[in-house]
Amino acid sequence: MSNSPILDVAIIGSGPAGYTAAIYAARAGLNPVLFTGAQPGGQLTITNDVENYPGYPEGVMGPKMMTDFMDQAKRFGTDVRFGSITGVELHGDIKKLILDEKEEILAKTVIISTGASAKWLGLANEQKFNGNGVSACAVCDGFFFRGQEVAIVGGGDTACEEASYLSKLASKVYMLVRGSSMRASQIMQTRVLNNPNIEMLWNSETVDLLGDQTLEAIEIKNRITEETSILKVTGFFVAIGHKPNTDIFKGQIDMDDSGYIQTVPGRSYTNIEGVFACGDAQDNVYRQAVTAAGTGCMAALDAERYLAEKELI
Ligand code: NDP
Repeated sequence: MSNSPILDVAIIGSGPAGYTAAIYAARAGLNPVLFTGAQPGGQLTITNDVENYPGYPEGVMGPKMMTDFMDQAKRFGTDVRFGSITGVELHGDIKKLILDEKEEILAKTVIISTGASAKWLGLANEQKFNGNGVSACAVCDGFFFRGQEVAIVGGGDTACEEASYLSKLASKVYMLVRGSSMRASQIMQTRVLNNPNIEMLWNSETVDLLGDQTLEAIEIKNRITEETSILKVTGFFVAIGHKPNTDIFKGQIDMDDSGYIQTVPGRSYTNIEGVFACGDAQDNVYRQAVTAAGTGCMAALDAERYLAEKELI
């Protein structure tokens, strides 16, 4: 057994959910320790302007917003530790976390806020243009492409929903589907197929992203004819799914088939007592910073109640 003190609250992950949980837990006197993970600040640190987070009337850069979140959490005494939790044992009254494969951390409650990662195509220029024409979130970035021509990749419900959203802003939306049919639900398919501002490009694969500083065009290939062509678009949205960052919890905590942690509806409780989940790790529907922050607040309040009810504080 470790000689380290037993924490009241350990928070895994440093996006809006984790830091909001930290702010609430710290203000409740629970001395939370937050482990940042490999990408401190989470997905927002790889976006530019955030214009849909309330409280920033002029918008804010994603990395700046996450520094603000961190500073606010620290102000109330959150201990922010840079490192990754690489293993967990969540059953029992005292939970055990392994930090960077070495150090053992003990805690009475654990808040999981490990987020999710967008899946990317893996093209050479995809990350170069990320934030400069390439995005994995139409709701976040569509506004920057008002009146411009854009393309979106994917044929699932997310791609259809985002294509519909973009069609109200962009002058034209090309939807690139790699096969000859879409996986999305019928109603979503009908919506995009009937939208005069969306042009379907079936059997289409993106082979390159072109431009100097920002995206100017994409090269696509028809997978049947093998013909390539250039499509002039300034926005390129990737909507081929997300992967929740929940691998370390597999086998211990209830998840759906895609790895999203299952919580009690309307609460942050998981199937394990004393373990709470918030943010994108348990949300494959909304995936917004503000909804993640809201569920982070819920997780901290649930953890506080659990500790009080069990008379652990
Ligand atoms: P999905 O996994 O359902 O769909 C992914 C899509 O991306 C598929 O069309 C897939 O093509 C395509 N794709 C995957 N990899 C590539 C690639 N390398 N190149 C090109 N295309 C690729 O993900 P979603 O995010 O759309 O949805 C996730 C879940 O969330 C689903 O259960 C969905 O129903 C749900 N959801 C529901 C909504 C709603 O009800 N309003 C809104 C959004 C999501 P292929 O089919 O060929 O494999």
